[in-house]
Amino acid sequence: MKKGLLIIFSGPSGVGKGTVRELFFDKEELNLAYSISMTTRSPREGEVEGEDYYFVTRERFEKAIANDELLEYAEFVGNYYGTLIEEVERLRNLGKNVLLEIEVQGARQVIERVPDSLSIFLVPPSMEELERRIINRRTESADVIHERLSKASKEMDLMNHYRYVICNDDPQIAADSVALIIKRNIETTL
Ligand code: 5GP
Repeated sequence: MKKGLLIIFSGPSGVGKGTVRELFFDKEELNLAYSISMTTRSPREGEVEGEDYYFVTRERFEKAIANDELLEYAEFVGNYYGTLIEEVERLRNLGKNVLLEIEVQGARQVIERVPDSLSIFLVPPSMEELERRIINRRTESADVIHERLSKASKEMDLMNHYRYVICNDDPQIAADSVALIIKRNIETTL
Protein backbone atom coordinates (compact mmCIF):
# COMPACT_ATOMS: atom_id res chain seq x y z
CA MET A 1 0.00 0.00 0.00
CA LYS A 2 1.18 3.51 -0.79
CA LYS A 3 2.11 5.63 2.22
CA GLY A 4 -0.23 8.60 2.78
CA LEU A 5 0.72 12.25 2.33
CA LEU A 6 1.75 14.45 5.21
CA ILE A 7 -0.26 17.69 5.09
CA ILE A 8 0.64 20.72 7.21
CA PHE A 9 -2.32 23.01 7.74
CA SER A 10 -1.23 26.14 9.56
CA GLY A 11 -1.91 29.83 10.02
CA PRO A 12 -2.11 32.40 12.81
CA SER A 13 -4.13 31.75 15.93
CA GLY A 14 -7.79 32.71 15.37
CA VAL A 15 -7.68 32.54 11.56
CA GLY A 16 -10.27 29.75 11.54
CA LYS A 17 -8.20 26.62 10.86
CA GLY A 18 -10.63 24.43 12.80
CA THR A 19 -13.74 25.81 11.05
CA VAL A 20 -12.23 25.42 7.58
CA ARG A 21 -10.90 21.95 8.40
CA GLU A 22 -14.37 20.76 9.41
CA LEU A 23 -15.68 21.79 5.99
CA PHE A 24 -13.24 19.68 3.97
CA PHE A 25 -12.08 16.96 6.33
CA ASP A 26 -14.84 14.42 5.71
CA LYS A 27 -14.67 14.42 1.90
CA GLU A 28 -14.19 10.76 1.13
CA GLU A 29 -11.87 11.23 -1.85
CA LEU A 30 -9.34 13.05 0.35
CA ASN A 31 -8.93 10.01 2.63
CA LEU A 32 -7.79 12.16 5.55
CA ALA A 33 -6.88 11.29 9.10
CA TYR A 34 -6.28 13.84 11.84
CA SER A 35 -3.16 13.63 13.91
CA ILE A 36 -4.11 14.21 17.55
CA SER A 37 -1.51 16.38 19.24
CA MET A 38 -0.15 16.31 22.73
CA THR A 39 -0.50 19.47 24.81
CA THR A 40 0.05 20.76 28.33
CA ARG A 41 -2.87 23.18 27.93
CA SER A 42 -5.96 22.45 30.09
CA PRO A 43 -9.01 21.14 28.23
CA ARG A 44 -11.58 23.79 27.23
CA GLU A 45 -15.22 23.10 27.92
CA GLY A 46 -16.41 20.29 25.66
CA GLU A 47 -12.95 19.09 24.67
CA VAL A 48 -12.36 15.37 24.92
CA GLU A 49 -9.13 13.58 25.86
CA GLY A 50 -7.79 11.53 22.94
CA GLU A 51 -10.14 13.26 20.49
CA ASP A 52 -9.17 16.93 20.59
CA TYR A 53 -5.76 16.43 22.20
CA TYR A 54 -3.84 14.16 24.49
CA PHE A 55 -3.78 16.42 27.55
CA VAL A 56 -0.60 15.77 29.53
CA THR A 57 1.57 17.24 32.27
CA ARG A 58 4.70 19.29 31.51
CA GLU A 59 6.73 16.43 32.92
CA ARG A 60 5.22 13.91 30.48
CA PHE A 61 5.69 16.35 27.59
CA GLU A 62 9.34 16.99 28.44
CA LYS A 63 9.88 13.23 28.59
CA ALA A 64 8.45 12.96 25.05
CA ILE A 65 10.93 15.64 23.90
CA ALA A 66 13.86 13.86 25.56
CA ASN A 67 12.83 10.49 24.08
CA ASP A 68 12.51 11.92 20.55
CA GLU A 69 8.85 10.94 20.38
CA LEU A 70 7.86 14.18 18.62
CA LEU A 71 8.01 15.10 14.95
CA GLU A 72 7.80 18.74 16.03
CA TYR A 73 6.81 20.75 19.05
CA ALA A 74 6.42 24.36 20.08
CA GLU A 75 5.66 26.44 23.12
CA PHE A 76 2.62 28.58 22.38
CA VAL A 77 1.24 31.13 24.86
CA GLY A 78 2.78 29.29 27.82
CA ASN A 79 1.92 25.73 26.83
CA TYR A 80 3.60 22.97 24.89
CA TYR A 81 2.00 21.50 21.78
CA GLY A 82 3.53 18.65 19.77
CA THR A 83 2.97 15.98 17.13
CA LEU A 84 3.71 12.35 17.97
CA ILE A 85 5.83 10.58 15.34
CA GLU A 86 4.19 7.26 16.18
CA GLU A 87 0.68 8.67 15.58
CA VAL A 88 1.60 10.16 12.19
CA GLU A 89 3.52 7.11 10.93
CA ARG A 90 0.84 4.63 11.99
CA LEU A 91 -1.80 6.53 10.01
CA ARG A 92 0.40 7.19 6.95
CA ASN A 93 1.35 3.52 6.82
CA LEU A 94 -2.37 2.69 6.66
CA GLY A 95 -2.46 4.79 3.47
CA LYS A 96 -4.20 7.73 5.14
CA ASN A 97 -3.32 11.33 4.21
CA VAL A 98 -2.46 12.79 7.60
CA LEU A 99 -3.41 16.35 8.44
CA LEU A 100 -1.41 18.34 11.01
CA GLU A 101 -3.29 21.40 12.17
CA ILE A 102 -0.45 23.19 13.93
CA GLU A 103 0.98 26.63 14.67
CA VAL A 104 3.80 28.14 12.63
CA GLN A 105 6.94 27.28 14.63
CA GLY A 106 6.05 23.60 14.56
CA ALA A 107 5.03 23.80 10.91
CA ARG A 108 8.46 25.18 10.08
CA GLN A 109 10.13 22.18 11.73
CA VAL A 110 7.99 19.74 9.73
CA ILE A 111 8.63 21.60 6.43
CA GLU A 112 12.37 21.16 7.09
CA ARG A 113 12.21 17.58 8.36
CA VAL A 114 9.77 16.25 5.77
CA PRO A 115 10.56 18.07 2.50
CA ASP A 116 7.88 16.24 0.51
CA SER A 117 5.11 17.33 2.90
CA LEU A 118 2.29 19.46 1.53
CA SER A 119 2.18 22.79 3.39
CA ILE A 120 -0.86 25.06 3.36
CA PHE A 121 -1.08 28.41 5.18
CA LEU A 122 -4.42 30.02 5.95
CA VAL A 123 -4.45 33.84 6.17
CA PRO A 124 -7.19 36.20 7.39
CA PRO A 125 -8.60 38.79 4.95
CA SER A 126 -7.05 41.49 7.20
CA MET A 127 -5.45 41.88 10.63
CA GLU A 128 -8.54 43.78 11.84
CA GLU A 129 -10.70 40.81 10.95
CA LEU A 130 -8.33 38.46 12.76
CA GLU A 131 -8.54 40.61 15.88
CA ARG A 132 -12.31 40.53 15.72
CA ARG A 133 -12.32 36.72 15.43
CA ILE A 134 -9.97 36.19 18.36
CA ILE A 135 -12.00 38.52 20.58
CA ASN A 136 -15.32 36.94 19.53
CA ARG A 137 -14.13 33.46 20.41
CA ARG A 138 -14.37 34.49 24.10
CA THR A 139 -12.75 31.31 25.37
CA GLU A 140 -9.72 33.09 26.80
CA SER A 141 -8.89 35.79 29.30
CA ALA A 142 -8.03 39.33 28.10
CA ASP A 143 -4.30 38.71 28.70
CA VAL A 144 -4.25 35.54 26.60
CA ILE A 145 -6.22 37.28 23.84
CA HIS A 146 -3.69 40.10 23.81
CA GLU A 147 -0.79 37.65 23.66
CA ARG A 148 -2.39 35.65 20.84
CA LEU A 149 -2.98 38.86 18.88
CA SER A 150 0.56 40.18 19.14
CA LYS A 151 1.82 36.72 18.20
CA ALA A 152 -0.45 36.56 15.16
CA SER A 153 1.22 39.43 13.33
CA LYS A 154 4.64 37.75 13.73
CA GLU A 155 3.15 34.45 12.59
CA MET A 156 1.99 36.07 9.36
CA ASP A 157 5.63 36.80 8.43
CA LEU A 158 6.27 33.09 7.98
CA MET A 159 3.80 32.52 5.16
CA ASN A 160 6.44 32.44 2.42
CA HIS A 161 7.75 29.10 3.74
CA TYR A 162 4.58 27.34 2.58
CA ARG A 163 3.71 25.79 -0.76
CA TYR A 164 0.19 27.25 -0.74
CA VAL A 165 -1.40 30.31 0.91
CA ILE A 166 -5.20 30.45 1.11
CA CYS A 167 -7.25 33.42 2.30
CA ASN A 168 -10.04 32.60 4.75
CA ASP A 169 -12.55 35.25 3.79
CA ASP A 170 -15.37 32.76 3.29
CA PRO A 171 -14.70 29.44 5.12
CA GLN A 172 -16.56 27.36 2.51
CA ILE A 173 -14.54 28.83 -0.37
CA ALA A 174 -11.30 28.40 1.61
CA ALA A 175 -12.24 24.76 2.38
CA ASP A 176 -13.03 24.04 -1.28
CA SER A 177 -9.65 25.48 -2.29
CA VAL A 178 -7.81 23.37 0.29
CA ALA A 179 -9.73 20.27 -0.84
CA LEU A 180 -8.75 20.92 -4.45
CA ILE A 181 -5.07 21.37 -3.54
CA ILE A 182 -5.04 18.11 -1.56
CA LYS A 183 -6.83 16.24 -4.34
CA ARG A 184 -4.36 17.45 -6.98
CA ASN A 185 -1.44 16.44 -4.79
CA ILE A 186 -2.88 12.99 -4.17
CA GLU A 187 -3.28 12.53 -7.93
CA THR A 188 0.25 13.65 -8.76
CA THR A 189 1.80 11.30 -6.19
CA LEU A 190 -0.22 8.25 -7.30
P1 5GP B 1 -5.38 25.88 20.85
O1 5GP B 1 -4.88 26.16 22.24
O2 5GP B 1 -6.20 27.01 20.31
O3 5GP B 1 -6.06 24.53 20.74
O4 5GP B 1 -4.10 25.78 19.90
C1 5GP B 1 -3.18 26.83 19.85
C2 5GP B 1 -2.33 26.69 18.61
O5 5GP B 1 -1.55 25.49 18.67
C3 5GP B 1 -3.18 26.56 17.32
O6 5GP B 1 -2.58 27.38 16.33
C4 5GP B 1 -3.06 25.09 16.98
O7 5GP B 1 -3.19 24.87 15.59
C5 5GP B 1 -1.66 24.79 17.46
N1 5GP B 1 -1.38 23.37 17.66
C6 5GP B 1 -2.24 22.37 17.96
N2 5GP B 1 -1.59 21.20 18.03
C7 5GP B 1 -0.28 21.46 17.74
C8 5GP B 1 0.90 20.66 17.63
O8 5GP B 1 0.91 19.45 17.79
N3 5GP B 1 2.05 21.29 17.33
C9 5GP B 1 2.12 22.63 17.14
N4 5GP B 1 3.30 23.14 16.82
N5 5GP B 1 1.03 23.42 17.22
C10 5GP B 1 -0.15 22.84 17.53
